[in-house]
Amino acid sequence: MPFSKLGLCDPIVKALAELNYASPTPIQEKAIPVVLSGENLIAAAQTGTGKTASFVLPILEMLRKGETQRKKRIRALVLVPTRELAIQVSKSVEQYAKHLSLTTLAMYGGVDEKPQKQKLIEGVDILVATPGRLLDMHSQKAVYFEELEILVMDEADRMLDMGFIESINKIVERLPEDRQNLLFSATLSNKVRDLAKTAVHNPVEIAIAARDASKPNIEQWLITVDKDMKSSLLSHLIQENDWDQALIFIETKHGAAKLVSQLEKRGITAEAFHSGRSQDVRAKVLADFVAGDVKYLVATGVAARGIDIDELPRVINYDLPFPADEYIHRIGRTGRAGAPGEAISFVSKDNFKNLCMIESRLGHLIERREVEGFAPRKPVPISILNYVPKHKREPQDEEGSRLKQDKPSSPRRKPAPRHRRKPANHTDGKKPSRD
Ligand code: AMP
Repeated sequence: MPFSKLGLCDPIVKALAELNYASPTPIQEKAIPVVLSGENLIAAAQTGTGKTASFVLPILEMLRKGETQRKKRIRALVLVPTRELAIQVSKSVEQYAKHLSLTTLAMYGGVDEKPQKQKLIEGVDILVATPGRLLDMHSQKAVYFEELEILVMDEADRMLDMGFIESINKIVERLPEDRQNLLFSATLSNKVRDLAKTAVHNPVEIAIAARDASKPNIEQWLITVDKDMKSSLLSHLIQENDWDQALIFIETKHGAAKLVSQLEKRGITAEAFHSGRSQDVRAKVLADFVAGDVKYLVATGVAARGIDIDELPRVINYDLPFPADEYIHRIGRTGRAGAPGEAISFVSKDNFKNLCMIESRLGHLIERREVEGFAPRKPVPISILNYVPKHKREPQDEEGSRLKQDKPSSPRRKPAPRHRRKPANHTDGKKPSRD
């Protein structure tokens, strides 16, 4: 089906043609008509499915018909978990709105507020913001919500994992009740559904099958290794295999800096990517990595959320991620668009339970490969599939401490929106898949 059949105007279709988008992806085909009809939407879709365009395109279509923005009064708000995603989404808006006169701004913390305030004064139709900075700017009266028509919560599960529930609730309380709400999330966990109950009434639900993490073009394997041998194992693999590029995930920012210097001592140049580096440095490092000028990027999982790099040949889980869904997200950054990719995990004995959870989540064991000279002194037992943890661990932040946990939001009742949106079901009778 061509984009023009989805009810998008010529200037939008033209911009898509210029980007060489031949036809809509499945999420776009399902979501665009729902959004254009004015209904609330919950969509289970991961990064890489084309989900950004699935909400940006119909929003542009709807907003282009209305009055243009007034000073500081935004018309659509996209909440995102990270600065990187804010930049990425607003770039997409700019690309798709190239032939329209609608404006966008990426608003996030860690940088000077002044340019963002100035842009709001000049007028912004679609604001893409991280929750903390947005609340801050709202309390300073730099932004007003009275004319807001559409709220999008992008990567809702990640926002909740990162402890943004209170900020999101505060923001939602300040928005006009008569608005359209769209929620996108890789997983529709109970926490996400709790959030949807308070903010997204009578939604249409659509689910797009996850890019199958265990699909053949991502080769997954693991190496069992003692903790104190991981950095020499990594150097060995890089030097033996002469890898062109690798995104290396590590738990803490301190660990990232240490690993970079350990690699450097062995003649390998790498860059660290974590929240302890300034936004400008991170943007530069990321651009260099995308351009291939930086070959090895050592990133904390928290900082790397939302980074979307096409054609990444491999990811290394230097530290095994938690929870299991995070493993799926991480390895999904390679093997895109049919290109081959590999995902290699370093596993030491104290990762055993975590490994059981990941392999249970995948439904199969990950192939183990031995690297000569690195056999662990403490062997890692073979996992028990269908492992159920006694106590669920909580996600960690970059310092390895617990992220502020979001209490399950109490199902506060909000008055129904003035224009009731009729419930509908676009899942063809299927329940949305978990991921
Ligand atoms: P997303 O899931 O929104 O992060 O998008 C993943 C990638 O797919 C981005 O690089 C988009 O530019 C690209 N993309 C989105 N929609 C289409 C489409 N219909 N045809 C081709 N590429 C697309």
